[in-house]
Amino acid sequence: MLVLGHQNPDCDSLCSAIALAALFNKIGRPATPILQGKPNPEALFLLDCAGFEQPEIRTSVAGEDIFIVDYSDWGQGTSDMKKARVRGIVDHHKLGDITTSEPLECWIWPVGCSATIVYNMYKFHEKSPEPAIAKLMMGAIISDTVNFQGPTTTELDKRAAFALAKIAGVDDIKVFAKAQFEAKSDIKNVSAAELILRDQKVFEMAGEKIAIGQLELTSLTVALQKKDEMLVEMRQLQADKGYHSTLVLLTDITTLDTTALIISKDADKVANALNSSVEGNVFELPGVVSRKKQIIPFLQSAFES
Ligand code: MG
Ligand code: MG
Ligand code: MG
Repeated sequence: MLVLGHQNPDCDSLCSAIALAALFNKIGRPATPILQGKPNPEALFLLDCAGFEQPEIRTSVAGEDIFIVDYSDWGQGTSDMKKARVRGIVDHHKLGDITTSEPLECWIWPVGCSATIVYNMYKFHEKSPEPAIAKLMMGAIISDTVNFQGPTTTELDKRAAFALAKIAGVDDIKVFAKAQFEAKSDIKNVSAAELILRDQKVFEMAGEKIAIGQLELTSLTVALQKKDEMLVEMRQLQADKGYHSTLVLLTDITTLDTTALIISKDADKVANALNSSVEGNVFELPGVVSRKKQIIPFLQSAFES
């Protein structure tokens, strides 16, 4: 069985796939974690910290048994995923559009991170993750919950992360989180074209496609210096893909505020739905850090009502 996260792999997609495959191997279900693409710098930092090799990158899963983590929509899988047998899903997002012709094992919980659910799967099976795996899982929870400051954070996430830190031998989660966040904030030498695609997800709303990327940074200074270059790349992507809107959320994980860049057929509609207003392809979202909880539901009701 192959275990895989979503496109544009983040910490959760990478670490939860590795951790889940390791659990399956412990309980006699042979499994291999794979990636749909190059992991982001924060995920690479975690791999390095835990001393893990990067799993194989595969963009085809036709004919395979698969278990997916951190999503439940076809759009975030490989282009041939409908030709695979989806055996199970672990996720913490809104329910997507995947359906199957056979029963499957679903672990979908409203928590801050898929790794929190995988941790509870270990408990369910009365197993414990190896220290290196525990470190990956802890890092994924730190990332997805913005070190427990994000609005998706639950008690279950905290409990899992602290238990995993203990197994991993990490004394101070705050110190670990700081190094992890610095790794993802180092964007000086990253091109605008790469930045706009980092952590990008494409959502379909009332037949329109809306692409939303997110950069989580300890400071927005460098990103704002690259704003004009990013808008050029976003305009190009929008034209190539025929999106209704292309957004890049610049989220300051120190102040917990977001500045959004937008190219859109109707930028006012998007900004208004989020109680903001656009000025020169930019709008401000104070107090917003979570795309899944503070952005998507509001856009969905604006587009689908
Ligand atoms: Mg994710
Ligand atoms: Mg996640
Ligand atoms: Mg995220």
